[in-house]
Amino acid sequence: MKLYYIAGASRSGSTVFAQALSSVLDAYNIGEYFLNYCNEKMYIGELPCSCGSKPSVCPIWREEGNHIDVNDLKVLSKKSRMRNIFFKLTKTERDYFKKLIENLSYKFGNESIIIETSKSPAFLRYLLSSKINLTVIHLTRNPYDSVNSWLIKKKYLDSKSFWGGVHDWFMMNYLTFIYSKLKKLDYVRVKYENFCEDPKEVLSYILKRDCKDLKDKYITKRNVFESPHFNHALAGNPSKFDSVENITIKNSRRQKKPVDFGIKGLFLKFIGLPFRY
Ligand SMILES: [Zn+2]
Repeated sequence: MKLYYIAGASRSGSTVFAQALSSVLDAYNIGEYFLNYCNEKMYIGELPCSCGSKPSVCPIWREEGNHIDVNDLKVLSKKSRMRNIFFKLTKTERDYFKKLIENLSYKFGNESIIIETSKSPAFLRYLLSSKINLTVIHLTRNPYDSVNSWLIKKKYLDSKSFWGGVHDWFMMNYLTFIYSKLKKLDYVRVKYENFCEDPKEVLSYILKRDCKDLKDKYITKRNVFESPHFNHALAGNPSKFDSVENITIKNSRRQKKPVDFGIKGLFLKFIGLPFRY
């Protein structure tokens, strides 16, 4: 099984990016599967699947709840927090995660290509311990737009204060980079802005690294992709799936005036520098 793990900060456009990637790869985009397991959201079935159903009725995910031990879940939920990233995993945690991976390979087959978008670098520890064929795609978006997106309350999504957004951007991006380099993971960094400007070019670049060809029969216009055959992503932002036939990638760059954060904006400039923002 090959797994593309989309890492980076929240509000970086990973929902749309993963849909487009799975479309050109004919892959299984399972969305935020790990995260959903670890914070009980999927177990409770709050968030819909991209097919439009709740996981408890979706044909792909409805059986999942049966395998879950709530106590295991609580342990994993705590340990999947970012601040624990440099602590070793216990045997229980490793075994639990192993079960999740085995479940995926049973469901989709050993030769399948999976795309997962939980983003938190904390899951990289688990993936490393499960010895899966892993590529980390670090998706970054400029901190101004990411933080601004946190300020706006959206359906299904929480909002955060300016500093909450800064903290998320900083921790997620820096830890993903540091951890991937330390552990010598197969790592590729992609700017969301570049992806929006020329999706095909960016996706081909990622696939070329893995000697895979882009199947552009699904690209109907420069920025419109046909939805993949497998449409059961456990969504971070389900409102992105309102149109099921197509994925339209909006060019976010220069689309609107940059947000003016005043003097606080200097912080964003500062944390964005190493990522060339
Ligand atoms: Zn579904």
